[in-house]
Amino acid sequence: MINAEIEARYKAFLAEQGMLFTRERATILEAVYKREDHFSADDLLFHMRQDGMEVSRATLYRNLKLLCTAGLLLEADFGHGHTHYERAATTQHEHLVCEKCGCVIEVSTARFAEAVQQVAATQGFTVEHHQLRIFGTCKKCQKK
Ligand SMILES: [Zn+2]
Ligand SMILES: [Zn+2]
Ligand SMILES: [Zn+2]
Repeated sequence: MINAEIEARYKAFLAEQGMLFTRERATILEAVYKREDHFSADDLLFHMRQDGMEVSRATLYRNLKLLCTAGLLLEADFGHGHTHYERAATTQHEHLVCEKCGCVIEVSTARFAEAVQQVAATQGFTVEHHQLRIFGTCKKCQKK
């Protein structure tokens, strides 16, 4: 379920752009907020069609971009040659990306967040957000 606050934020953003919160946009927002993982646009499209939702690839791509601009969705590049998306509602975390199986593990530590702030502060820089991706081999793949 989409929470009312997210929907309200999206509606306000669309209104600012002179755009409407159409049935299609509501459907896409709902599909996106059902996901708790890091999905690609094509994977989302596949599951939406499986659930009987009719949406064109171009429309979905446009809407994902829009949700990113609205700050409701985050983009991440895991070196797969396509963009991954995740809901922006989750707390700040870093990504461990396995280069063998492609799995993505979320990790977070307050110490890292502090270090980011400290490094930025040395340059008088204000941090809005940051992205760190650590590439390597996951536990499962190391056993193979
Ligand atoms: Zn991927
Ligand atoms: Zn792996
Ligand atoms: Zn994540």
